[in-house]
Amino acid sequence: MADKNTRIKALAKKTFEALSTEFPESACSLETDCPQNLAIRGILSAQCTDKRVNITARQLFEKFPDMESIANQDPEVIADIIKPCGLTSSKTKSVIAFAKKMTGEWGGVIPNDVDALMEVPGIGRKIANLIVGEVYGTPAVVVDTHCKRVMKRIGITDGDDPAKVEKDIMKAFPEDQWINIGHLSVDLGRKYCKAQSPSCDICPLSSFCGRRI
Ligand code: SF4
Repeated sequence: MADKNTRIKALAKKTFEALSTEFPESACSLETDCPQNLAIRGILSAQCTDKRVNITARQLFEKFPDMESIANQDPEVIADIIKPCGLTSSKTKSVIAFAKKMTGEWGGVIPNDVDALMEVPGIGRKIANLIVGEVYGTPAVVVDTHCKRVMKRIGITDGDDPAKVEKDIMKAFPEDQWINIGHLSVDLGRKYCKAQSPSCDICPLSSFCGRRI
């Protein structure tokens, strides 16, 4: 077991070094203009591209620039704007519930607490981790579809369940890399380690990747 942990930590070290070199500007691809707007983008991002979320959220915030106006809005009006992001009904409920928490219980301050954030319907662990990481710099791993896929292929995890993948990443990488490794995984997944036909021949990880495809 000790050998396996040592081997995976060494693999994680090489992975982080190679990805940081390849993607020095790696960052969250959701617009991060202000914490509460980022949280709403996070809610909208389930099963939707970040590009689409950024466009749709801009339209939402142009019409309703503060949490009060969203909390008190007719759900149908919100639903109409956020429809391009899909899962309209649940996302509408979630966006309004978040805005109500912000204007009520939370007193305008997003909690730096994954469990408190997960009390909002529609905010799961991935989004809660995204929020505490981006807003407060709290070490947290965001396991999205890219992260899950590339970490398994590289050999950092053998799991498919996001909770297991998150745990394995937390064991393999030092805490101060948890936020960045999420962003770097997305960059790797988009540029080289695509779901279909990964470009292993030109991938910067090709000399050490486990290639569990
Ligand atoms: S070598 Fe292939 S499988 Fe491994 S990370 Fe790169 S693209 Fe993915």
